[in-house]
Amino acid sequence: MSLADGLVLPSAPGGRPARWAATGRSGGASRPPYASLNLAGYVGDDASSVEENRRRVAAQLGLPADQLCVMDSVHGATLAVVDAPGVVPGVDALLTQRPGLAIVALGADCVPIALVGSDGLTVAVVHCGWRGLVADVIAVAVRALRDHGAQVSTAVLGPAVCGSCYPVPQERAAQVVAERSAAVAAMALVTTSDGQPGIDVREGVAARLLELGVSAHAIERVGGCTVEDPALFSYRRDGITGRQGVAVCTVDSPGS
Ligand SMILES: [Zn+2]
Repeated sequence: MSLADGLVLPSAPGGRPARWAATGRSGGASRPPYASLNLAGYVGDDASSVEENRRRVAAQLGLPADQLCVMDSVHGATLAVVDAPGVVPGVDALLTQRPGLAIVALGADCVPIALVGSDGLTVAVVHCGWRGLVADVIAVAVRALRDHGAQVSTAVLGPAVCGSCYPVPQERAAQVVAERSAAVAAMALVTTSDGQPGIDVREGVAARLLELGVSAHAIERVGGCTVEDPALFSYRRDGITGRQGVAVCTVDSPGS
């Protein structure tokens, strides 16, 4: 069902393994234009279809259907610490230390990101578009993990629009240059085939993670360009459409 999933074994004594999954369009219950694995409740899709889709993601992680906490993101840099299932509005990052609770970030061109803590206890998810890159939601999440005693041992960057498919006004590129380092701007800013400035948000996120001390081998990219791949949801391509995402949780043991 998912594009990819993985198990991250704990590096700290007493830590738990973490499971993550990154989803695309396939394997869900929603009908067009949300077909089929839409995980967002705010895009106009039938609520029972969204519930069924979320149940399938929970099942893939080995969890009961209701053990998901999803955010309705707003392109800001606010993080919520959660310990219960549900929907959290108005934030772009979630962090939990509750075993068996999956937290979920959604997107359809923006980057959904899962961060696994080195303590085998703390996990976080982030939604990041160009505004999140400028607002530095990535640093907010990495520092929140550190405040909870964990380094980032794995960062899963889900599908997102590539720089060639994301031309932007010059002022927007200038904002990235103004707010982020030269290293991040160099990775994030591209020139599209017709000579316009473009932003590759996912590469900008990766560069920001490196800058924050996450090692290159800890960063895993899943899926390709949302605009180019019809197997992925893309708001830029389709307008009214669903949202894919990444989910992460800690579990009792690799077999649980
Ligand atoms: Zn593309």
